[in-house]
Amino acid sequence: MYGGTSGYYEWINYCPNCGNYDCLLLNPKGTVEGELSCAICDSDFDGCTGADKHADGAWGWLTPYTPEPPQKSVNKTAPKSETKVEKYQRLFREKEAEILS
Ligand SMILES: [Zn+2]
Repeated sequence: MYGGTSGYYEWINYCPNCGNYDCLLLNPKGTVEGELSCAICDSDFDGCTGADKHADGAWGWLTPYTPEPPQKSVNKTAPKSETKVEKYQRLFREKEAEILS
């Protein structure tokens, strides 16, 4: 994923103009918004909006990258001190998180 270093947004490493993945390069021009360039079709994208900077107007936009929620750490060895009530509460929280996700 690129874009994180610009301090603004992160984008899926996918070029909408040529339809290739893993082709975006952080532009070495050092623009403040963190421009991204496609290594294959040479499109430039704005690091803030994800908009294609084509001279005729934006042809496409990058797809915002939404991080996956961190995986629940499954503690296979339940702490010895866990009581029935604590276990119930833990299971309830897990179920609740499942429903809310
Ligand atoms: Zn491209």
